[in-house]
Amino acid sequence: MDGRILATALATLRSYALCDSCLGRQYATLGYRLTNRERGRSIKIALLMEAEASEDIEVIRILSSKGMLPEASATLQRRGVNPPEPQACFVCGGVSDKLQNIASRIVDMVSGYEFNSFVVGIVVPGWVSEREDIVRSISSSTYCEGLKSEFSRELGKLLSSMLGVVFDPYRPDMNVIVDPFSVSIDISPTPLYLAGRFRKLKPGLPIRSRICRVCMGGGCALCGGLGVKETSVEYIFRKVSVELYRCESVKLHVPLDDGRDRVVLGLGRRFVLEVRKPRRRSIDLDLFKERLDSSFEGLIDVNGLSYVDRGFIRRMKTSFESEGYILLLKPVESMDISEAAERLKYLEGLRVKQRYPGFKARLKVISDVSVKFREDGLFELRFISSEPLHTKSFIEGGRDTKPTVMEVTGIAWLLVDTLIYVGGVGYA
Ligand SMILES: [Zn+2]
Ligand SMILES: [Zn+2]
Repeated sequence: MDGRILATALATLRSYALCDSCLGRQYATLGYRLTNRERGRSIKIALLMEAEASEDIEVIRILSSKGMLPEASATLQRRGVNPPEPQACFVCGGVSDKLQNIASRIVDMVSGYEFNSFVVGIVVPGWVSEREDIVRSISSSTYCEGLKSEFSRELGKLLSSMLGVVFDPYRPDMNVIVDPFSVSIDISPTPLYLAGRFRKLKPGLPIRSRICRVCMGGGCALCGGLGVKETSVEYIFRKVSVELYRCESVKLHVPLDDGRDRVVLGLGRRFVLEVRKPRRRSIDLDLFKERLDSSFEGLIDVNGLSYVDRGFIRRMKTSFESEGYILLLKPVESMDISEAAERLKYLEGLRVKQRYPGFKARLKVISDVSVKFREDGLFELRFISSEPLHTKSFIEGGRDTKPTVMEVTGIAWLLVDTLIYVGGVGYA
């Protein structure tokens, strides 16, 4: 043995006190399946045996103090030499030996959460990285590993066996961030993403509602305990999710915001519900649907629920569906009925340019136009638009809509009501 590793290890220990893990980490890629602690201790033992064979008391003293090797202290004692005090590790200060304690604390913290996979991230104070660099510059080892990667792996192994869950850095259910030096632990469950379609069965229901400014969400007499100004689609989702997933909050993602007075029928508006910090994850989606449909006296219902990944939100928001509309219109001035109905049919095949709120101006094509005059004096106009249409601007102008129904028909109209059918545009 040419002793290259032993020589550099000894040179490093002459300068800095290192625990078994922190010394072994300098040679982490050597010796498959060994832990760094085993590597470090093995090197120290080999150094002790060589030192004893060559009667090098000074090296044994170094191993006893800066190597913290109990056998080196015992060797000195047997020879009648008072052993020096073991020093504290220059890099970790002894934290390497406390991972089991830290793991137990993490186990306590995550005990209320359901999860099957996790990841551990390690943050360390700046001085730790600096000291790692200093030691590395002396050991000049090309075999070393970083402290963060070792701690993350070793904590991962401990948690896996204590909790019976898998370490998965790519799709973890639970994220654990640990600073082992200050022993601060932060846990955050990965959000769940639930996709589906909802129908908004009654007018007067907004998609979202503002938080109550009096109680800031806690619920008070003013908001009737809702925590928000009024019931909304998002509120209904939140209420049911908090019950079933025991989550902290939800965020409702929709491709576009239907106004409060729109009724949305057909297959329904696509959505992704982001369930944040859930304590339960494996909720039967049939149960979720049942709870939603039966809550709040049928204001909404949902269909086609499935769990998706986060990327689904962007895909949903960047693809457009055609929509069917039933508009109730009233001419501003009284008008010959059959003439007005005839002119509404000019809309067939029309190409409309419009900025839908939150989107750039886009071209939409109108088709399947039909018109009916109702006993209440309103015109019922049905058509399909190749993309979502802002109906009020389409009828009355605004949002750079070109052309408007007024321009095409030569009649000024008032939009009385909008029903929309999305996702398969039959008027089912
Ligand atoms: Zn150490
Ligand atoms: Zn309130």
